Amino acid sequence: MYSFNNKRYLSPNILDKLLYKNCLKEYTSVLGYSVENRPILLSSFGSGEKKVLIWSQMHGNESTTTRSLIQLFSDLTSKKTNLFDDLTIKVIYQLNPDGSDKYSRFNANGVDLNRDAVKRTQPESKLLFSLFNEFKPHFCINLHDQRSIYAAGNTNLPAMISFLAPSYDESKSINEFRQKAMTMIGSIYKGIKPKNNWSVGRYNDDFNINCFGDFFMSKNTPTILLEAGHHPNDFGRNIVVHEIYKSLLMFLNLFARENQIKPNTETYFSIPKNYDHLRDIEIVNIRCLSGFSNKRFVQFHEILKGDKIYFSPTIENESSKELYSNVIIDFSKFTTESIDLKQNNQKIIENLKLFLDFSLLLK
Ligand SMILES: [Zn+2]
Repeated sequence: MYSFNNKRYLSPNILDKLLYKNCLKEYTSVLGYSVENRPILLSSFGSGEKKVLIWSQMHGNESTTTRSLIQLFSDLTSKKTNLFDDLTIKVIYQLNPDGSDKYSRFNANGVDLNRDAVKRTQPESKLLFSLFNEFKPHFCINLHDQRSIYAAGNTNLPAMISFLAPSYDESKSINEFRQKAMTMIGSIYKGIKPKNNWSVGRYNDDFNINCFGDFFMSKNTPTILLEAGHHPNDFGRNIVVHEIYKSLLMFLNLFARENQIKPNTETYFSIPKNYDHLRDIEIVNIRCLSGFSNKRFVQFHEILKGDKIYFSPTIENESSKELYSNVIIDFSKFTTESIDLKQNNQKIIENLKLFLDFSLLLK
């Protein structure tokens, strides 16, 4: 297992420390309590007419966007910004503290909160809905992490950010509220400057009323789902933290002057769809008794041990579709003689570890 020196584990305790360190405590109160009686924290910023509701970590193991939120509001509160004159922003950093503590998608009752929008069987879903009802936001931002399998379109470019203007009905109609979300996403998309071999994707818009985005859209509140994705060799998701920060800041600036933006759905539909055909590693030239075998694909699975997330590699079964990877390890080159350990190159050592582990797995 490999830790890749990541900060993916963001428990309620760590959140508390980060809010304190970033001087955000004074904006923060307790919205309510989770199944296991952990406080769910809510920050309020600004006093403007336009109201925005943002929530993150409703899936406890999706912490990247929470880090972006903390950095963003730490920066905005430490300098003068007109945004707080135009906007009132409510932020739930971690809707699912029990899941965050266990690094689990689900809450303490094993429920996926993002499938509980209509029935609202869980205290966390009830709290989100009652805040929505009382605050009556003009716009919602629903923040998540997506798996590393997503490419932007039928390419091998990782979708490091993906957007969705959720549907509010089976036929995926577009009314003025969904159009607002699409227009906003299109404007943010134009401002994102992908580099270093990553891109932006559009998330699947199949309708599911049990998802909060679809549900809030059906209540005529424009909602954007934003997914932080993967970049090869960035298992810590440090690059994307900053890109999500920039997208959120763009959103706030655009929303503050939304009346000047012309409705446009074309740019939204020009964003390439998410394709789920990427894998973390492709191994080629695997030595076997009969010579060199074909390629294999490897996917890492995240495991919490102590207060760290480790990545455990698993070799994928044969896939019915064509798979791609941005990390290709040629096993024919990996003999101990060919690696100069004196260079102390971390990457070589990591690859060597991988090579040795995989050789064991493949036996
Ligand atoms: Zn999620």
